[in-house]
Amino acid sequence: MDLTGGTPFWPLRDGLISVYPAADRDETCDVVVVGGGITGALMALALTQAGRSVVVLERREVGWGSTSASTAMLQYEIDTTLLELSDRYGRPTAEQAYRSCGRGIDLVHAATRAVGGRCGFRRSPSIYLAPRPSDTAMLIAECEARQRAGFDLRWLDAEQMQQTWGFESSGGMVSSLAGSVDPFRLTHRALSYVRARSGRVYDRTTVVSYDATAKGVCVRTDRGFAVRAKWIVFATGYETSEFVPDHVVTLKSSYAFVSEPVTLDRWRRGFLVWEHADPYLYARTTDDGRVLVGGEDDGFRDPKRRDAALHRKAGVLRRKFGKLCPELALEPAFEWSGTFGETEDGLAYLGAHADYPRAQFALGFGGNGITYSAIAAEIITAALTGRRHPDARLFAFDRTPAPTRPLSVEKEKNVVG
Ligand SMILES: Cc1cc2nc3c(=O)[nH]c(=O)nc-3n(C[C@H](O)[C@H](O)[C@H](O)COP(=O)(O)OP(=O)(O)OC[C@H]3O[C@@H](n4cnc5c(N)ncnc54)[C@H](O)[C@@H]3O)c2cc1C
Repeated sequence: MDLTGGTPFWPLRDGLISVYPAADRDETCDVVVVGGGITGALMALALTQAGRSVVVLERREVGWGSTSASTAMLQYEIDTTLLELSDRYGRPTAEQAYRSCGRGIDLVHAATRAVGGRCGFRRSPSIYLAPRPSDTAMLIAECEARQRAGFDLRWLDAEQMQQTWGFESSGGMVSSLAGSVDPFRLTHRALSYVRARSGRVYDRTTVVSYDATAKGVCVRTDRGFAVRAKWIVFATGYETSEFVPDHVVTLKSSYAFVSEPVTLDRWRRGFLVWEHADPYLYARTTDDGRVLVGGEDDGFRDPKRRDAALHRKAGVLRRKFGKLCPELALEPAFEWSGTFGETEDGLAYLGAHADYPRAQFALGFGGNGITYSAIAAEIITAALTGRRHPDARLFAFDRTPAPTRPLSVEKEKNVVG
């Protein structure tokens, strides 16, 4: 699958942070992690911190999957509003899911500290705007629901929003709990940490199949070498849809550009902003004074069509941001596109699946995939070290509605990719 197009910003800015070999020998370890993006990196970091030996196998270069294209806004709010999620699962469960995502931001922050660098991590206010007057009643109700759940946020009307933040809207909610990060740097730093503690990281190595027994797995690679482990963790991002039930995730295309550095006097604390619209518009500041704008999602699954649309979509994003914030004239520096996946209820799928013995899945789909990556690392590490995590049920495969379609893999020999 072609996950990105155009010129993703992070690898360009950060360059070749670390170099990893391709697999050149058989290996034995406690846990083999498939995927060297932000999810696999945080997973390997958490397992290493828990004293488990880890081998990471990545088909591309480390960090060059969706992670390279991510706008990496860290939010507690998920694609499904708290009110909608409450209708579906009940208020306590919905609030628990939102709180779990809030904790995910702290977990990302903790990971940046553990690996010894800021990795562009920054806490900033998050602003959720009502573009039209007809959106305000619903969003005010949502704001109140979140306040009842204990989140620190307040509603600003159109004039207050304009005066305080310079954003043109019909009003919106401002939350103090949000952040942003450089996901490519964090991925590399986390995997360097793992490697410095005897973990092994191989890129340009594709997992082609695995066999599971009662005691462990034997994972085969396209390089002809095998890894024997007690457990396998799939942190394979949107490509997991090649071998798990395809209705778990709906794939789309998303577009983004980053501006040349701008003067952010009024916004020196940084911001995350997004609109309640379909397709939506969102933007964040970077640690080097740029504004990163994304959105204009569409249903393209064909990378050629996605990339052909990129320049036009980036132009639309620029015009829309210009209307939203006339004070900040942005000059686009780089633009890119990426495959993006959503689940029906906005929640990630994390943990074991009944049909895949000795496997765990870390599928942080959705607009806040990276906070899900951090939650996945915590939940799966708990499972593999014999502990129950209080949030594990929220993201389990067999939550309702449960997958119903047959799996598209051979059961005996699980074929990947
Ligand atoms: C344009 C865009 C904007 C986004 N904005 C945000 C945002 O603001 N906030 C947010 O939280 N999230 C955002 N996301 C989502 C977020 O980027 C993803 O959730 C996250 O990057 C997924 O990380 P990952 O490690 O799971 O996947 P990836 O980075 O794709 O890593 C998975 C890796 O697995 C490897 N792999 C797959 N199959 C195999 C195999 N068989 N063998 C070996 N390796 C394999 C792939 O090569 C890949 O590198 C955005 C995504 C896009 C595209």
